[in-house]
Amino acid sequence: MVKNSAQPKPLSTRDQRELVSLRDLSSRVGSDPLLVQASNGNTSIKFDGILWIKASGKWLSHAMQEEMLVPLKLAEVKKSIRNNTEIASRYTMKHELRPSIETAMHAILQHRVVLHVHSINAIAWAIRLDGPRQLNERLAGLHWQWIPYAASGIPLAREIEKAVTGAPETDVLILGNHGLVVCGQDCQTAEKLLCEVETRLAITPRRFPRPDTTVLAMIARFSRWRFPDVASLHALGTDAVSRKILKGGVLYPCQAIFLGRTMPLVPPALVLSKSSERLKGNDGTPAFVAVERSGVMLNEKMTSAERATLIGLAQVTQRTEDSARLRYLAEAEVADVLGKGAHSYKEVLVRELDGERKTVYPRNAYVS
Ligand SMILES: [Zn+2]
Repeated sequence: MVKNSAQPKPLSTRDQRELVSLRDLSSRVGSDPLLVQASNGNTSIKFDGILWIKASGKWLSHAMQEEMLVPLKLAEVKKSIRNNTEIASRYTMKHELRPSIETAMHAILQHRVVLHVHSINAIAWAIRLDGPRQLNERLAGLHWQWIPYAASGIPLAREIEKAVTGAPETDVLILGNHGLVVCGQDCQTAEKLLCEVETRLAITPRRFPRPDTTVLAMIARFSRWRFPDVASLHALGTDAVSRKILKGGVLYPCQAIFLGRTMPLVPPALVLSKSSERLKGNDGTPAFVAVERSGVMLNEKMTSAERATLIGLAQVTQRTEDSARLRYLAEAEVADVLGKGAHSYKEVLVRELDGERKTVYPRNAYVS
């Protein structure tokens, strides 16, 4: 038994109703690919000194079908933050439900309900150097703050604590190079605020050239490669602005974790040449390949989390203008995310974000 795992007293009908409301809201939020991709994003509610937080690796979209909330004593979570001990690291693989890596962030915030999402629109602002200035206008009148990038877990929680200490009314946080947090006293208030923020942050994605299926068909002849079933993915290859953005580096942690430090972006000539041997190989074949001016092909070994992350990335780049100056993750930040070692941040995050590590088989056809 984990010391911190709370044994809550029997819940009142009112409390049970609140937990159901949170699960219902989580499943709706988790089913929107513009808010959550695979198992990222997390939700929580606090009452009677207990923090109910989403378990690591669970998909918010499954919240109504399976148990995904871990009860923790709030006082103990706060104590471990003071002692600089990650809560999630106390849980081993034996525990079926381990609290989210973002537990500290949820505990720090005073509001009863906290929703953290990897909103595509929020990320498209959160990667811009002029993001804070741009959002001053878009979020005017809301109690919001910009939180500069910090690694998930206690470092991020501390940055948030610093920002909200003098402004406890803050209920919207834009997390630099990461995502969005909204809070409320109940699920209804938090959801309403999430909708309001999303409306204000919305960006229309750029149109992009159609894929060149002749070149892509050259890859499709290798047994493992499939045309994507999501047409917007092709923008990563056909849209010059997206390619330029991706060549700049890593924009946010999930990109590094699931798609690697550098994008497998190749010129069409390479596909047609002998170098395409790499696409035939058994080992080391990338999960996807973006061919300049041609489009994207997926490896059938790609996991569902990799696929969801790639779809999200294409949506972010299609919402980012050519003229925007971007803040990429620094080399040290990427190294921290991808750090090696038994309890590396990457390992925790992969568990967190890739609960369902299984192969996906995209439909073998391009649907425009
Ligand atoms: Zn996150």
